[in-house]
Amino acid sequence: MTVVDLINPATEEVVTTVDLLDESAVDEAVATAHRAQRIWAALSPAARAAGLRDLAAAVDGNRDELAALEVANSGHPIGQARWEAEHVRDVLTFYSASPERLSGKQIPVAGGIDMTFCDPIGVVGIITPWNFPMTIASWGFAPALAAGNAVIVKPAEWTPLTTIRLAEIAEEAGLPPGLLQVVPGRGDVVGEAMLGHPGIGKIVFTGSTRTGRHVMTRAAESVKRITLELGGKSANIVFADSDLEQAAATAPYGVFDNAGQDCCARSRILVQRSVYDRFMELLEPAVAGVRVGDPIDDATEMGPLVSRAHWQKVASYVPDDAPVAFRGTAPEGPGFWFPPTVLTPQPNDRAVVEEIFGPVVTVLPFDDEADAIAIANATEYGLAGSIWTDDLSRALRVSRAVAAGNLSVNSHSSVRYSTPFGGFKQSGLGRELGPDAPLGFTETKNVFIAVGAATPAQSQRGTS
Ligand code: NAD
Repeated sequence: MTVVDLINPATEEVVTTVDLLDESAVDEAVATAHRAQRIWAALSPAARAAGLRDLAAAVDGNRDELAALEVANSGHPIGQARWEAEHVRDVLTFYSASPERLSGKQIPVAGGIDMTFCDPIGVVGIITPWNFPMTIASWGFAPALAAGNAVIVKPAEWTPLTTIRLAEIAEEAGLPPGLLQVVPGRGDVVGEAMLGHPGIGKIVFTGSTRTGRHVMTRAAESVKRITLELGGKSANIVFADSDLEQAAATAPYGVFDNAGQDCCARSRILVQRSVYDRFMELLEPAVAGVRVGDPIDDATEMGPLVSRAHWQKVASYVPDDAPVAFRGTAPEGPGFWFPPTVLTPQPNDRAVVEEIFGPVVTVLPFDDEADAIAIANATEYGLAGSIWTDDLSRALRVSRAVAAGNLSVNSHSSVRYSTPFGGFKQSGLGRELGPDAPLGFTETKNVFIAVGAATPAQSQRGTS
């Protein structure tokens, strides 16, 4: 076990320490989880639904505490952090309806009756990134619990505090002890142990595409079920026929929310050449208007980057000779501050190709619809995207042509708990959220019951 400091990204002060656990903690957690899962799965569907509603209520009751923890640990602006805690509550409430709706099917076959059951997988492992710790954990644990599983979460090394607290809240809310556990630790220790553990039936992994490929390889050893939510390099396509003022006013929030540390960040703005200059004129004041500052202040829209190491990675995309069009502001002094930055590079520049995961956006011109689609799709990723146009037919054509899992027209919305979320291409595998998510945490069991023909005596008795 190693003890590490957690650093407040806005002040660089130590928030607290956390114990990074080892492989033996995973073994213990899996054994405990199996016991808890048997208790949970034996409850009636209505009792499991009530348990999830109790947890949702407890999260709501602890909203301010969870939000304050995320501000201190991750540097998220307080308004956003409150929304994240409320989102966890809402995800739990949405999936509290599932235990009583996980119906199998009765399928017509010859010679008997055929029916299917949605059996829980057993113990599910969730490995999360540092950018949205509690919301991403809840996208896995809420539907997994709803389907009758126990869950073990390994949070990212830098930001474990809200996830640890959520597991405590689950126990305080009356869920069976050990049903939702958190094992803080390094990816190459605790994460690896989870990938190789025979007692874990499914891994939900959210993180970089590079680690995701490794997770997929390791999962193959035991044919472990997996869901992968990976990186993105999403396009925000602005056509000349759109409401240009609105497109420019909202573009910064499509990429700089959470300081650009968002897998769905629209980090490539593509603008039709005929309105490019006008769009840039409108974008400059919009970028300058993003309020970057103290995360505790309710008016703050963007906080610092999560760590010094991540700051250095983001800064590497903006060298001294970078083609900077303009930049917003950021505080001086301690904290991992990085101003919103707009680049106008060549199409093959690494800032255009690679996921930066910080407040840096590239702007490229395009000529026509076909050109816009080709540029939008010229990436290994396919997570999200936005299309700005007033032409409904064009909106539908381009939405169908862009190879990404979550598109929005004349907005930048990506995540709603009631709609499916996930990536095309190397942005992932499988989908989270939406009405079908609990099915991803079940095995379909098919049972056929032969029904023999009635003997003459049975027929007789039946008719007498
Ligand atoms: P990362 O891949 O470095 O780490 C993610 C998690 O994997 C961490 O908990 C880490 O400890 C763990 N890990 C690392 N090595 C491991 C190993 N060998 N075995 C098992 N686990 C291991 O990613 P990150 O830097 O924490 O997060 C940023 C990335 O996450 C970005 O690429 C971003 O796009 C992506 N992301 C995707 C989504 C989505 O829904 N598609 C959402 C948020 C973030």
